[in-house]
Amino acid sequence: MNACIFCSIIAKQAPADIIYQDEQVTAFRDIHPVAPLHILIVPSRHIATTNDLQDEDQELIGRLVITARKLAAQLGVANNGYRLILNTGHDGGQAVYHLHLHLIAGRRMRYPMG
Ligand code: AMP
Repeated sequence: MNACIFCSIIAKQAPADIIYQDEQVTAFRDIHPVAPLHILIVPSRHIATTNDLQDEDQELIGRLVITARKLAAQLGVANNGYRLILNTGHDGGQAVYHLHLHLIAGRRMRYPMG
């Protein structure tokens, strides 16, 4: 049994609303959305945090952002804008230790955050 919930979602062993998947990247709706559109874009290979990235993962990280850009366009939020968040570790507010890029849109957001 796989202990990582995102690995289980990627393997279709746990339920999720997957909206995009290829060999390297999976995107699915966040179960607790903080905005009208809230999608998580994750590497299909388990990488726990930003700290675990290797130099060879440069293209993979680029793919996460490019996937976010494509989904934002497809889902009609590109013009109004959106926020991409990559929480890392305890102080970064990371709750699930499978690296993920949040794509959040559909309302005006503020910065700095609390
Ligand atoms: P983070 O705090 O950056 O680690 O964010 C983890 C995110 O994963 C949160 O926004 C959760 O709502 C989301 N999440 C946790 N479990 C699931 C799940 N089973 N399906 C979809 N989203 C999830």
